[in-house]
Amino acid sequence: MFDVNAIRADFPILKREVNGKPLVYLDNGASAQKPQVVIDAITRGYAEEYSNVHRGLHFLSNLATEKYESTRDIVRKFINAPSEDEIVFTSGTTEGINLISYAWAAPRFEAGDEIVLSVLEHHANIVPWHFLRERQGVVLKWVEPDANGNLDPQAVLDAVGPKTKLVAVTHCSNVLGTIVDVKTICAGAREQGVPVLVDGSQSAVHMPVDVQDIGCDFFAITGHKLYGPSGSGAMFIAKERMAEMRPFMGGGDMIREVGRDEVSYNDAPMKFEAGTPGIVQTIGMGVALDYLMNIGMENVARHEHDLRTYADEKLRGLNWLNLQGNPHDKAAIFSFTIDGAGHPHDISTVLDKKGVAVRAGSHCAMPLMDHLGINASCRASFGMYNTREEVDKLVDALELCHELFA
Ligand code: PLP
Repeated sequence: MFDVNAIRADFPILKREVNGKPLVYLDNGASAQKPQVVIDAITRGYAEEYSNVHRGLHFLSNLATEKYESTRDIVRKFINAPSEDEIVFTSGTTEGINLISYAWAAPRFEAGDEIVLSVLEHHANIVPWHFLRERQGVVLKWVEPDANGNLDPQAVLDAVGPKTKLVAVTHCSNVLGTIVDVKTICAGAREQGVPVLVDGSQSAVHMPVDVQDIGCDFFAITGHKLYGPSGSGAMFIAKERMAEMRPFMGGGDMIREVGRDEVSYNDAPMKFEAGTPGIVQTIGMGVALDYLMNIGMENVARHEHDLRTYADEKLRGLNWLNLQGNPHDKAAIFSFTIDGAGHPHDISTVLDKKGVAVRAGSHCAMPLMDHLGINASCRASFGMYNTREEVDKLVDALELCHELFA
């Protein structure tokens, strides 16, 4: 049974006021707030259980190692990966996708090889591929969403040709909330022998994810959007792909032996985790994922679907609000502008005065902004602790903006 008030009580920050008003936190797409269990795990991690992992033989090092390593299985369970050896810890999605670009793609791709991308992508799933374009002559092939912001999986597959070496696509747009049918894309790409990377940064927090059912080769999640610490994340890498990877960063736990004229590497996944990792952050991410699994991602999805439907109806009722896109399958993420209201920064400043936190800007998605014909938008992105009453507060604050600016 999903009890939003019980969940809200787990998040201490939701009790605070901002500008004399109760906080209405609608910036979850950028980063989500943390429940007390995660805050406690971070405090305990440093106050009672801290040491470096793997290399020590003393009590605290063994304890930290045990907690850190047990997080791999928590991540495996959360996304239903076949084995914990296919989970590489990262500092977040940006590092995860850069890892794949440097360690898997760069040594294998040649000039003229193609990467198929959608225009919905976040810069984190664009710029690492631009590096390959700039440095190695790899060609980026772009697939446009339709006028409502839907991404037709067949359009993605139509862009796959004999030179395509990778399809890299988001599971959920951080701007429009569009849920992409990545399962169909993976099935079609697989028939043509093309691996698929899925950016799950936004999807994994809103719905259950099963990487085996999706059939992808790479899947990125990021701890800070999943109610865990910033600086944590994980990349699922199917074992066939992991075997094709060359280490990207050197030093620390990725090493087996180092001599003057030779070097040998640890087994995967540690082969791809150089240096001292984000120990407490990763442990905290595991606690956040356990917290989510206890609530049940189906329950989270159901609650957010209700919020999304309610917010959609309310926001579409404001005939002066330009809601961007109208995808048929979407998460509770809404981008908008108001005619005559100037820059979205001005809208977000007014909303902030009412205690409503939203994001304004290009949301690290400039190709999508270009496609939408705007420079920037305001974005209200809901999380599992938001309520219908908070949708109403957003609407009231937007009405104030309209009065002030229009
Ligand atoms: N991909 C998407 C769709 C995102 O929304 C974000 C964060 O906003 C990222 C990637 C980058 O994630 P991280 O902050 O973990 O590097």
